[in-house]
Amino acid sequence: MEVSEKIDILSLDLPQLEFKMAELGEKKFRAKQIFQWLHVKKVFSFDDMTDISVQLRTKLKEFFCIKSLFIAKRLESCIDNTVKYLYRLPDGNYVETVLMEYHYGRSICISTQVGCKMGCSFCASAIAGFVRNLTPSEILMQIYMTEKDMGIKVSGVVLMGIGEPLDNYDNVVKFLRLVSDKNGNNLSLRHVSLSTCGIVPKIYELAEEKFGLTLSVSLHCADSDERSKIMPVNRVYSLDELMKACRFYIEKTGRRITFEYAVIDGVNVSEENAGKLVSLLRGMNCHVNIIPVNKVKERNYSSKKSSAESFAQYLSKRGLNATVRRTLGSDINAACGQLRRDTLKLEKTGGVNL
Ligand code: SAH
Repeated sequence: MEVSEKIDILSLDLPQLEFKMAELGEKKFRAKQIFQWLHVKKVFSFDDMTDISVQLRTKLKEFFCIKSLFIAKRLESCIDNTVKYLYRLPDGNYVETVLMEYHYGRSICISTQVGCKMGCSFCASAIAGFVRNLTPSEILMQIYMTEKDMGIKVSGVVLMGIGEPLDNYDNVVKFLRLVSDKNGNNLSLRHVSLSTCGIVPKIYELAEEKFGLTLSVSLHCADSDERSKIMPVNRVYSLDELMKACRFYIEKTGRRITFEYAVIDGVNVSEENAGKLVSLLRGMNCHVNIIPVNKVKERNYSSKKSSAESFAQYLSKRGLNATVRRTLGSDINAACGQLRRDTLKLEKTGGVNL
């Protein structure tokens, strides 16, 4: 059997693995043993699963594979302990993962797709275009490999790296079930945030799943026509539809939504912009996260430090819950999509040797 035909075992949930064991004529409890080797002990070689018989290990190697990621680059910030990984996937594509340190522990920002289709004008991920969705195991492995490399356990996960999580809905949902499985990694989904640019039908679907995670919505503009100029997704799902979906989500889940707002001088920071944002979100159970836009080489967007501060103050004075997000890893290009984009560019010109 060729490697590509083998089943990606880390993408299977426990009932699926139990089913596979039954197919192989094995006892059900073997599935739980293997599941724990993978998701609790984070052992990624069948040979190291010592309480599994040699006979079964041979069978496992014949039918399944464990797809590891390769650390192509690892950058450590000198300023704030942020660590950024460029992972090479088994097919040679790259994704980025960022580990951040907060007072309560480590939080990891993971990617859900290779590239992105959404085309937001300020985002580095959009520039190289879309390649493919990540599998559940590729999303999960970013966490497991980083934890092993650093010898730590992360306490929070944010789906805010490369890609649009709700554009890879099924695999992201499988990932969420795997990462939180009580028999496995057992991370509470209360410590997971999922960020979307606003794929409206999927927000309704997600609300029904009752995951208890935090939904972040990348708003960036409170005027629908203006938003369409910087976020093409708004031409498909208007601001009005998006806000209806957000209200439904809050009502259904009882959770508040975080709205992300990257301030870009000359684009979305005027007093008029702030006023529209206040009207749009008034009375909603939400929080606004103001982010000074990260510079992307191909764009001339920027924001002065004072822009974010005064924008946040304007909102707070009018009763909106707003804070300015701390910038982490500024010395290692830690904003989403920048490292992968730089590597692709160097590869094209033959200038990189990973
Ligand atoms: N596709 C998802 C998640 C990935 S982007 C989404 O759109 O939410 C993660 C966050 O980074 C989003 O809020 C996105 O709008 C923001 N972002 C992208 N490029 C940025 C930049 N140059 N400066 C600041 N924030 C940026």
